[in-house]
Amino acid sequence: GMSETFYGPDFNLLTQQDPDIAAVLLSELKRQQTNLQLIASENFTSRAVLAALGSTLSNKYAEGYPGKRYYGGNVNVDEIEALAISRVKQLFGAEHANVQPHSGASANMAVYLGLLNPGDTVLGLSLDHGGHLTHGSPVNASGILYNFKSYGVTSGEERIDFEQMRDLALEHRPKMIVAGTTSYPRRLDPEPFKAIADEVGALLMFDIAHLAGLVAGGAHPNPVPYADVVTFTTHKTLRGPRGGCILSKAVHAQAIDKAVFPGSQGGPLEHAVAAKAVAFREALDPSFSVYAHQIVKNASALAAALTKEGFRLVSGGTDTHLMVVDLRPFDAECTGKVAQLVLDEAGITLNKNTVPDDPRSPFVTSGVRIGTPSVTTQGMTEAEMPVIASLIAEALRHRDDAAAVAAVKSKVAALCAKFPVYPHKL
Ligand code: PLP
Repeated sequence: GMSETFYGPDFNLLTQQDPDIAAVLLSELKRQQTNLQLIASENFTSRAVLAALGSTLSNKYAEGYPGKRYYGGNVNVDEIEALAISRVKQLFGAEHANVQPHSGASANMAVYLGLLNPGDTVLGLSLDHGGHLTHGSPVNASGILYNFKSYGVTSGEERIDFEQMRDLALEHRPKMIVAGTTSYPRRLDPEPFKAIADEVGALLMFDIAHLAGLVAGGAHPNPVPYADVVTFTTHKTLRGPRGGCILSKAVHAQAIDKAVFPGSQGGPLEHAVAAKAVAFREALDPSFSVYAHQIVKNASALAAALTKEGFRLVSGGTDTHLMVVDLRPFDAECTGKVAQLVLDEAGITLNKNTVPDDPRSPFVTSGVRIGTPSVTTQGMTEAEMPVIASLIAEALRHRDDAAAVAAVKSKVAALCAKFPVYPHKL
């Protein structure tokens, strides 16, 4: 059946030894295959990445770094991690790389630990204007341990407000400026961030968690030449395993490595490091550049189609893989929370998201965030984007009509069936 062809013979073993878990894993595979995955921070990894993740490296302790481990038996782990490091340095043109962070949040916290003292002042983009929790939210360790000041986007154009950032920088003299976004649809040119950081003598950190795949594929400017440190997740547009990575100038190498281990993590997840290495190799292939550019083309096409359906796009559109959709002009009563629930019923997976200066709470919101990395991996192109926009609009227009929502769900399943992920047949 599906299990043998997709997961391989080991999955049959799991089916026998733990049918409960095996059954849920198959349900999740089916969910990923039959629903539209529009969460901007998700993707489908290659089967090669999944194979590395499911490897025996998970058994090994490897505290330390290649050639400098605390435990014996790391000859193979050293080779894997050294390959991951050299590949990612080549991919982004970086002087130094640490591939051990367990996640994007862990990568960011390690950078702060390595380059700041508790209480130091930092500038970051506010959460409700598209920043990330780890950029100084009061409920996150970043905001608890460091003195973050938030910049935002301009009210008309909804673009990064560099004038406000410069004013804040001159007033507060931050030790570091954090650039980077979670739900901001526009290109982040590194030059204006660098100019302000230099003017006030601040370190510049770029968090390209969302953009890493676009940068790697040449579909977005690369901040590595400008920034002291660049962090990212490996599982979003970069299409690797769930995990984090830190790139830095050579001068920060020692501080960063010490902050990751022993500063904030224990034993590295070397099976994940192996899977990162596989993903970096895939991203070095010229075909990945075609993929990255197609993600952006698809996002532009989807944004245009959603505008035609009566939605408002925050900032008027997108330059990246994601868009933030303001639902209010389409239907003033339809909150992001309701939209997420209804679309889930219709087999369309996305997340509610605040729009800039949203009058509704982050649990309710007036918008949704939509991304094209996953559907692009499936092979969808500009031709499918108006179809997706109309399916979204149809489900939301008939959100009180269960039969109509179910009808959308079958259309979604039919569309997904034309673009199979993890095909059953090898
Ligand atoms: N930084 C940014 C900009 C992000 O968007 C995210 C994830 O959404 C993170 C950091 C955190 O990554 P993780 O969820 O792997 O901790």
